[in-house]
Amino acid sequence: MNQNWQGALVRQLLLLLGGCLLIGLITGEYAWALVVGLIGYLGWTLQQMRRLLQWLKRNTPDDAPPDSNGLWGDIFDNLYQMQRRDIRLRGQLQSVIDRVQGSTTALKDAVVMLDSDGNLEWWNPAAERLLGLKKPQDTGHPVGNLIRHPSFKEYFDSGRHEEPLVLASPVNERLWLQFTITHYGNSEHLMVVRDISRLHLLEQMRKDFVANVSHELRTPLTVISGYLETMLEHTDEMPPRWPRALNQMNEQAGRMQHLLNDLLLLAKLEATNPPANAQPVAVATLLQSIRSDAQALSADRNHDISLEADPTLLLKGSEAELRSAFSNLVFNAVKYTPAGGEVRIRWWCSEHGAHLAVEDSGIGIESKHLPRLTERFYRVDSSRASNTGGTGLGLAIVKHVLLRHQGRLDVNSTPGKGSIFTCHFPLSQATTQ
Ligand code: ADP
Repeated sequence: MNQNWQGALVRQLLLLLGGCLLIGLITGEYAWALVVGLIGYLGWTLQQMRRLLQWLKRNTPDDAPPDSNGLWGDIFDNLYQMQRRDIRLRGQLQSVIDRVQGSTTALKDAVVMLDSDGNLEWWNPAAERLLGLKKPQDTGHPVGNLIRHPSFKEYFDSGRHEEPLVLASPVNERLWLQFTITHYGNSEHLMVVRDISRLHLLEQMRKDFVANVSHELRTPLTVISGYLETMLEHTDEMPPRWPRALNQMNEQAGRMQHLLNDLLLLAKLEATNPPANAQPVAVATLLQSIRSDAQALSADRNHDISLEADPTLLLKGSEAELRSAFSNLVFNAVKYTPAGGEVRIRWWCSEHGAHLAVEDSGIGIESKHLPRLTERFYRVDSSRASNTGGTGLGLAIVKHVLLRHQGRLDVNSTPGKGSIFTCHFPLSQATTQ
């Protein structure tokens, strides 16, 4: 192409010089012949440029370029090929865009594209149905102005989008939506919203069922326990085989009461919002009282229970909930540590936040069980749990309480050596005295 171009240029110059030489030979005025030739060449070049400009201005896809020869012919041909290539590529791109738009239009899930400031750029028809977005008037508006729920604003602004958010739809309160936000490109956001109303309803039914059954079982159980206690006060008037049976019944009734209390506490933790404007809790004092209870639980198994707590470090939240979570961890450490073992409780602050660690020298847990420990009724070994009188709900309660206090649980354990359960809270939850 480069060689063609050079060849055409050389040919054109030779032609010009040849023409000028011929006119010079005929007229004898070589200088004038050269001047006239150059002016003529300049005029022809300007004419080609004018034709090119007109062709570019018309800019109709099927319009072939003007005919020309030499260098200008090459320029016209190359420009025409570039234009055809560009049209073909644009066509291919448009068909990809059409297919993507067609598939997102058919999607039941809402897809919303937001710029780096959270302004709406594009959305599919499902977003209009689920979120009430309207084209074109909502384009360019901040998403927070259209989905006004405070939890959405908090979730969006937090920048932490690993977990999805579940909210009622702004256009229909009976629709439950799951928001997932993904970051891409230049800090733009892709928001996918799914209708999970059916799942939400089933989940709600499960929660209500468990809460209602637990509640309904409580009264008959209190009556049974009451009668058993009264009967146990009169064992001397009974046939000799009865007291043992009554004692076992009383013990099992106690376990059932414990189980129902845990189920009701979990139902409450799931059903209610975290306490607003939570007051700071003196964790060190709370841990002292839990330590005394743990010492009583250990009784003649003589565990060495130590406590190192920063008395100036407070935690915003509900004292009752925190007591329940921390005592579950400490009592587990006592339950799953053989007699004479060590239990170490620590409460401290670092640049990452506030931390509570409960370390024991007990039986430990195999690593394959760790991811499932906080599931309801999950037990590493059911025989082990029934010996210790556990319900299998303790760590589920811990997880829920921590979630409500923006904390998380970390478990490290070595079978035969012991375990460390650590609760991490963000600095925003901690205060100092
Ligand atoms: P449980 O009421 O059975 O103790 P949890 O939810 O508190 O239920 O604990 C779940 C399971 O985790 C327990 O059954 C036990 O096997 C294991 N586990 C919890 N804490 C410890 C610990 N400190 N050491 C060893 N195993 C533990």
